[in-house]
Amino acid sequence: MDVLKAIQEAGVVGAGGAGFPTHVKLAGKAQTLIINAAECEPLIETDKYLCRTQAETIVTAISAVSDQIGADRRVIALKGKYHTEIEALRQAIAKAGAQIEIFEMGTYYPAGDEQIMVQQILGVSVPERGIPLDVGAVVNNVGTLVNIADALRGRPVIDKYLSVAGEVDKPLMFKVPIGTPVTDVLSQSGLRVSDYALILGGPMMGLMMVDPQKIAGAVVTKTLGSLIVLPAGHTMVQTWRMRQNVSRLRHQTKSACIQCRMCTDLCPRYLIGHQMRPHLVMRNFWREDAITDPAEYIRAFGDAVNCCDCGICEEFACPMGLSPRKVNDHFKQMIRQKGLTVERNLKPTARPGLTEGRTPTLRLVARLGLTAYEGRHATECREFTPDTVFIPFRQHIGKPAIPIRQAGELVRRGDLLARADPDGLSANIHCSLDGILTEISATGARISRKEV
Ligand code: SF4
Ligand code: SF4
Repeated sequence: MDVLKAIQEAGVVGAGGAGFPTHVKLAGKAQTLIINAAECEPLIETDKYLCRTQAETIVTAISAVSDQIGADRRVIALKGKYHTEIEALRQAIAKAGAQIEIFEMGTYYPAGDEQIMVQQILGVSVPERGIPLDVGAVVNNVGTLVNIADALRGRPVIDKYLSVAGEVDKPLMFKVPIGTPVTDVLSQSGLRVSDYALILGGPMMGLMMVDPQKIAGAVVTKTLGSLIVLPAGHTMVQTWRMRQNVSRLRHQTKSACIQCRMCTDLCPRYLIGHQMRPHLVMRNFWREDAITDPAEYIRAFGDAVNCCDCGICEEFACPMGLSPRKVNDHFKQMIRQKGLTVERNLKPTARPGLTEGRTPTLRLVARLGLTAYEGRHATECREFTPDTVFIPFRQHIGKPAIPIRQAGELVRRGDLLARADPDGLSANIHCSLDGILTEISATGARISRKEV
């Protein structure tokens, strides 16, 4: 079987991150295949659930993927405290007679960042703005492996597992068609509050939604693994609102940054050796408009391009409640707009304090004000079929897929709706509901349920 072709046809993309098309990632050769099941963001349950319930499927897919990339080392990385999941995986590995290591990680954030994971497992740092393949590794999320196993059986990516936590009666898993409105999922989740904000993803790197209209328009995608419901008055929601304005951030930084360096000393990218010193970016922020020389601009703000957006600096490190992450976002945009380039260190080496500088998850949870929701696990998985779905044609990094259907057509689950753009990075998009195509555009397709 042509593994890459099956994965490409099925529209598999990274299930745990930004949605990098998997057939492209697996086209290279690597010595080490790492399966990322660390799930380091607080309150997310999805990867644990998959490890417990689909261990044999995961092990089968690992064999196919490692043959594809020519890997002679296969590693599943997850937290050492996930005893049940580790046991399920060990049994599946033994049953298959497979050569797969279990790598037990500590309970810290961001253990699931692939560059941090590679550093811990291989002992080398990925180059700045590089990928694990640069040091001979391919990292796949455990959810991606489940989708690969389906693809090898001829089944495209049309359903998604995701967990719901926070202000709900109990955390739950859901398996729903791609394109399901998140409000449909919430309506089955036992919400305990009526006025709420919603995080799509994890509390550190997810997308915070506070506008009810935006929440009503949000749908489940191939990359959405978690919904977290917070009361509208929760501290995370309030501080998120405050961090949206750059001139306010500049004013706050100028008056409150005490140059303590905590944002730098605890920054995971700094610790693995990247040029990432947010305290210097913060020090120079106030004089941004006065710097006209490009070389000086890069010296002052160039580090920002190496920021991975993990949020430790603003949610955990800074004693003054400042937002180096948001400031880095601003300078990433400015550097792009100005057409400036920042040199890359291709051979970074980890700095002293790499281990001691890790952020313990439970302390992070406390800092985020999420302790009340921690330690409640999703054991039940619910499935349902929504009345309508809206399936976006861009659920991945790169170009949107190109629609191939017309409004009014009857479609079935698994039918191809939009083909990957052949002129760049892209991925196929399939129908997730039997029904009638009521609307289709370059953005996506709406389907209403109907017996076909
Ligand atoms: S968000 Fe902050 S801690 Fe994370 S990589 Fe960027 S600067 Fe470092
Ligand atoms: S941690 Fe906060 S106060 Fe300290 S240097 Fe960084 S931004 Fe400034």
